[in-house]
Parts: sequence; structure tokens; C-alpha cells
Amino acid sequence: MTTPPLLEVEALEKRFGGGTTLFGAAKPVVRAVDDLSFTLHRGETLGIVGETGSGKSTLARLVLQLIRPSAGRIRFEGQDVTSHSAAQVRALRRRMQMVFQDPYGSLDPRMTAGSIIAEPLAVHGTPAGEIAERVAEVMRQVGLSPAMADRYPHEFSGGQRQRIGIARAVALAPALLVLDEPVSALDVSVQAQILNLLRDLQSRLGLAYLFIAHDLAVVRHVSDRVAVMYLGRIVETAPRDALYGAPRHPYTVSLLSAVPLADPARERRRKRILLHGEIGSATALPSGCRFHPRCFRARLVAAAMADTVPAAGAMLPRACVERPPELAPADTAGHLIACHYPEEANA
Ligand code: SF4
Repeated sequence: MTTPPLLEVEALEKRFGGGTTLFGAAKPVVRAVDDLSFTLHRGETLGIVGETGSGKSTLARLVLQLIRPSAGRIRFEGQDVTSHSAAQVRALRRRMQMVFQDPYGSLDPRMTAGSIIAEPLAVHGTPAGEIAERVAEVMRQVGLSPAMADRYPHEFSGGQRQRIGIARAVALAPALLVLDEPVSALDVSVQAQILNLLRDLQSRLGLAYLFIAHDLAVVRHVSDRVAVMYLGRIVETAPRDALYGAPRHPYTVSLLSAVPLADPARERRRKRILLHGEIGSATALPSGCRFHPRCFRARLVAAAMADTVPAAGAMLPRACVERPPELAPADTAGHLIACHYPEEANA
């Protein structure tokens, strides 16, 4: 019997704006997240990658119920949390917590490390007599001495501050951590320490991670599965090794071609695939496949076919310009890709 997922996201949508201004002009609608579906199991890490503007952070806020979806459903531990009342959402915080990007900005500079970590315990009714002991326990779990509990955030290094943020997040023994760019503000050597800490905590505490980042090397280090987002949609998702070993969507191929390789000889031989232009705007989404203005594959495919139309300064396949591709299974188990031409060569 397979265990049910910890988190199930189904056809999730988030639109901002719309309606009219005071003077009757239409306000643009931002479709930040559109028709997103995925699952996450206990003890598993799903990496979410994409450029700024792909909708990753909106997704994090939706999962945590910091904002409500426009459509779709989020089930957590078997319950539909999208219909939760404010009181139920507060109770939900015990089970799902967030770790932020900026370990300094997210910690109150007037509070000591101990009181920062203790705060959620007090809010959720942990008996006062048990709080100090629990704070000391989680400080040890994240590699901080409990003797540091009386220090203020500015007295810690960047990596130590992120450890405080992680200690605060795990203090209530949650099942899920949503990590939004948790190491991108840190030096590379410190990044590795924090990533190792997160892996260690996951294996000891059975935590599930929704790990959001733009850095594909970082996501590879921590993820079991990876979903690549582009303009609010998942364009490719696969087990980590399948995605990094044989990426199928041209966007993933382009992103991975820019990740430096450890082997200098392979790095020299490797071909970079440049994306055309910038990521588009969520207020004026391209028709058909949202990636078509930047897609090298559409240009290659079009050269050998008759059914093309002018778009983005080139002749492109009509299907790419007029029909959104569905996220459909590729050859490897669990590998899904949204492309009308998934079998085509990558360059
Ligand atoms: Fe590129 Fe067309 Fe595939 Fe979209 S559907 S990724 S534009 S080839």
C-alpha cells in the first residue's frame, strides 16, 4: 500500500489585480500561478526552480496559506486547507513552517536568539516550564550552543543567523518546511554547511521540504525530485537524477547549460544554450506555449516544417504559438514535460 502524500497541490491558480480603476480603466490581471499540480511525501524534498518572476515565491505563500488561491486545492495531511478558517490556518502553522531567504531581515533585532526561537512555542501554547528546555534542544540540533541564547542577531554570523531561523522553524516539530531561497544570501562555503544541516535534520526528524531556489546546483544538492517553473506553470518535473542527467524541456536544457561543471575538460567542451530575451510578464502572457518567444527548439523545429506562423521575430511552429502544451509523461517514470515536441534534439 502506498502512503498518501503529505502535501497535494491540485490545479492551483493565483491571480492578482483585475477589476477597474476609479476612472473605469481595466487593471491588468497578473496570473502568478496557473494550473499547478504536484505532490510531496513525508521525508521528501521537492525542489522548485525558475527565474525571478516564475511564480515560485507566490507558490510558497499559497502553500503556507499566507495568501488564498484564486482556484484549485491544497491538501495537507489529508485535509483541504484552502477552505480553512483563520483559526484553523493558525493551528496549521504547527505543522508547516517557513525558512526565509534573508536570515538577518527575518529575525527581530530587538529579540535574543532564545526568545526568537521560543516565540512560536509560546504562541502555540507550549507550557512555560518546557520552553527553555525545548529552545536548548533545537539550538543543539542546528549546531548552536544553548549558551548563545541570550545574544542578539547582530552578534551572530550570517550562517548562524540562518541556523536561528531554522531552529525557530523546527521548534514546533512541523512535518513540512517551506524554504524560500534559504541559502542564496550566504557565502558559498556557508551555503554548504546550511545545506548539510538541512539534510541532517531531514533524516533525523523526517521533515519534508519544499525547497525554492533559482540556483540549480543548490537544488540538485538537496532535492529528491525537481519541478521547473516558467511564468506560473510547471514545464518539467522529474526525479532529480533524471532531470539533471537528461533534461527534456528546452527551458530546463537552457538553464542547466549555464550551470558550471566541476570537471574543467567537460566544462570546456560543453555548449552553452542562450535563452532569447527576458522572462515575459505575467500580465501579458505569450499565447500558446508561454516559453515560445525564447525557445531555441521551436526555431529548430520550424526550420523543417511547413505549418509555421510569424512570432517573436521568427517563423515558429503554429502549435507552439497557438496551443498551450499539457504537462505529459516522458519516457522515465515520474518525468513530465510540457512541450509539443518533446522528442526533438536539444540543440
Ligand atoms: Fe518550445 Fe514549442 Fe516546446 Fe514550447 S511547445 S517548449 S515553444 S518547442
